[in-house]
Amino acid sequence: MKILLLGPQGSGKGTQAARIAETYGIAHVATGDMLRAAIADGSELGERIRPIYDAGDLLPDELITELMRERLRADDARDGFVLDGFPRTMAQAAALDAMLQEEGRRLSVVFEFQISDEACLERLLRRAELEGRTDDSPEAIRKRLELYHAETEPVVEHYRAQGCLVGIHADRDIEDVFEEIQRALDEVLVRK
Ligand code: AMP
Repeated sequence: MKILLLGPQGSGKGTQAARIAETYGIAHVATGDMLRAAIADGSELGERIRPIYDAGDLLPDELITELMRERLRADDARDGFVLDGFPRTMAQAAALDAMLQEEGRRLSVVFEFQISDEACLERLLRRAELEGRTDDSPEAIRKRLELYHAETEPVVEHYRAQGCLVGIHADRDIEDVFEEIQRALDEVLVRK
């Protein structure tokens, strides 16, 4: 199964992606986690991306696309993956589509996590207190929500037009959201 999760920061993508990966035995590919690891290990790449990451800005499309090309080719992602945090721009979506097409693969389903900005803001401010993520400052949070509307919502429309988008009501308990996802995934599996 190849699953894509779209939704603003704070919509619960990371939490649900981890559960999906565990339940269905597929790779959890999260660009944010990969970037945080690069920053933490003090690599040259990490130093280059740190200021962009901390400000809540998007990293250059080419850089992210190259990272993803390598990651999706790794053995653990061959049979399936849940993508969390990529693509975030139309250029990235076009690159992903081309990448999959080259290899004769296609996405099974794209989930859109639907939730208001206010609810996300509240969740992110709470996460800032609990986890202390360096990009969870109020300015960076605002920037990331703005970028979601400007850059990532067109990606949602792109996949809606392809007919593979399923909306998920994300402003609920983790368990309820996961149940809705499982029901949708069961249908996808039956259709195959
Ligand atoms: P996340 O953990 O998914 O919220 O990502 C945290 C940060 O990593 C974002 O605010 C961006 O700075 C960077 N990032 C993650 N994924 C991407 C992407 N697909 N394109 C550009 N920047 C990204």
